[in-house]
Amino acid sequence: MNSIETLKNILETKTGLTITIELTNNKKQILKIKCSGKESKTLEVNPIFINAPNEVIEDIANFISGNNKKSSKSRIIKYVRTTLSEKNQDIKIKLNPFGNVYNLNDIFEKLNKQYFNGLISSRITFGRNRHNSRKRSIVFGNYDPQKNIIRINRALDNHNIPYFFVEYIVFHEMLHACMYFSGVSAMSMGHSKRFKSKEKIYPLLKKAKKWEKDNLKIFIGKNENI
Ligand SMILES: [Zn+2]
Repeated sequence: MNSIETLKNILETKTGLTITIELTNNKKQILKIKCSGKESKTLEVNPIFINAPNEVIEDIANFISGNNKKSSKSRIIKYVRTTLSEKNQDIKIKLNPFGNVYNLNDIFEKLNKQYFNGLISSRITFGRNRHNSRKRSIVFGNYDPQKNIIRINRALDNHNIPYFFVEYIVFHEMLHACMYFSGVSAMSMGHSKRFKSKEKIYPLLKKAKKWEKDNLKIFIGKNENI
């Protein structure tokens, strides 16, 4: 998950300049070089750039240093347009984090503080129950990087499912979000070596995996998919 500090550091590394970043909500001024010195620049940027993918940050760096200024600029504009229109669509997404047994917001907040320095900005919700009688496997959760939403299978909102297992599934999806925003976007959706080694910081990993193996029969056959 990125922050102003991360954006500043990446831009400084890429341009070799000292960068100061000021956030602005001015819709007409998405990105502006406010002050420009020989070795330093002050930028006014819209907050949507904080979580921009690496390619876009690369374009901002090029824009600041004057390399490929025109093509960088047009790609930046394209990113802004798509992101802002997705944000508008987001308002229509109904979130439902409160189950009968588990409150996903509480689990998310706790994990965010404990393992991610509170930096994950994703939203979390139970998915709708969709029945698919042909499906013989189950997906417990997924992370949608475009909407920055974590969806958890509602089948987990059940007294038969232990807290640590639900917590592990939420942690797993948060790790996908974390890796996506730390710039390994292309690889982050899978379970790479790096993902698996990072997953080990969750102390109940083994216990959760064992529980999943021993109890999969609870889910299979119920045909509940998110
Ligand atoms: Zn996964």
